Amino acid sequence: MTDLDEIAARLGPSVERDAPLASLTTYGVGGPAGLLARIPDAEALHDLASALRTTGVVVPALVVGLGSNLLVTDAGFPGLVVVLGDGFAQVAVEGTKVLAGGRAKLPVVARQSAAAGLTGFEWASGVPGSIGGAVRMNAGVHEADMAAVLTRVHLTDLWSGEDVVMERDELGLGYRSSTFPSSSVVVAAELDLQPGDPAAARAAIKEKTNWRRENQPGGRNAGSVFTNPPGGSAGRLIDEAGLKGLRIGTAEVSSKHANFIQVDEGGRAADVWALMDAVRRRVHQASGVTLEPENVFVGLDPLPDLGDDDEARP
Ligand SMILES: Cc1cc2nc3c(=O)[nH]c(=O)nc-3n(C[C@H](O)[C@H](O)[C@H](O)COP(=O)(O)OP(=O)(O)OC[C@H]3O[C@@H](n4cnc5c(N)ncnc54)[C@H](O)[C@@H]3O)c2cc1C
Repeated sequence: MTDLDEIAARLGPSVERDAPLASLTTYGVGGPAGLLARIPDAEALHDLASALRTTGVVVPALVVGLGSNLLVTDAGFPGLVVVLGDGFAQVAVEGTKVLAGGRAKLPVVARQSAAAGLTGFEWASGVPGSIGGAVRMNAGVHEADMAAVLTRVHLTDLWSGEDVVMERDELGLGYRSSTFPSSSVVVAAELDLQPGDPAAARAAIKEKTNWRRENQPGGRNAGSVFTNPPGGSAGRLIDEAGLKGLRIGTAEVSSKHANFIQVDEGGRAADVWALMDAVRRRVHQASGVTLEPENVFVGLDPLPDLGDDDEARP
């Protein structure tokens, strides 16, 4: 009996063996999860942690939110994938405070906050992730990010089942990054916004939605592939290197926004990875800048080291 079999036997019918992951990501690529646990609510999350403790086995674990920043290898993830359910999707507004569950969708939280007369979270209306994924990634746009609105998060440790509240400053939030333990599941986050005018907030959301529609592609992608280098724009560098429309297999650099990669239906993670590698090499040759991935790789090798930035400058 493998470790996963042991966990599956302990958890019973609530978990699935060899469950497809592609449909849980916006790229729509990636092989199956060894074990997939859909967790409806906090009690079930504690049950999962207690079952894991009882088996005593440790397997790789991954929390999947709305999968809008994940590139999962075609071979799949040979461990335990945890997906939070509707019991974690609540949004409650009290004064200027918003309590949002880890599964709550950012656009929903943005719209509900605006409707309650709060301002400061309109930017999140166009980011198709969950609160949990947004905290982990410190999601944001150029003028704002989660760190600017977050006060604290409620976490449950997958292995110990321990509930912890961490203040914003303890999370190690940086540019699209965080350093809190990978075994911590974000079950809820508290935001502090400012009083505003609901009509103005709604108008700002509409404007942001229209801007995205005009400037970003729809379809199968995971948003910005690379982070912006200090003081620069990854999209501009890719565009200037003439890479819009570059294709490898089933993956293509978007001709609408150069920092997005579009994948064909039934596409392959290997093609996305190879295209990222090719784009990164060519941008490095053209500008001397090494782009770093914003997408989170699951089971894929990191992109190769390209050496010192200045060495490649023509
Ligand atoms: C069209 C499009 C536009 C986008 N625009 C932006 C943008 O403007 N700004 C921006 O920052 N991002 C953007 N993104 C990327 C993405 O939406 C964000 O990174 C988002 O925060 C990811 O949330 P998610 O729920 O999809 O996380 P996932 O992609 O599922 O996971 C991302 C990471 O978070 C972890 N995670 C997920 N849920 C939890 C949880 N509950 N607890 C602990 N860890 C968790 C995962 O393990 C993984 O490490 C865009 C994506 C798309 C497709």
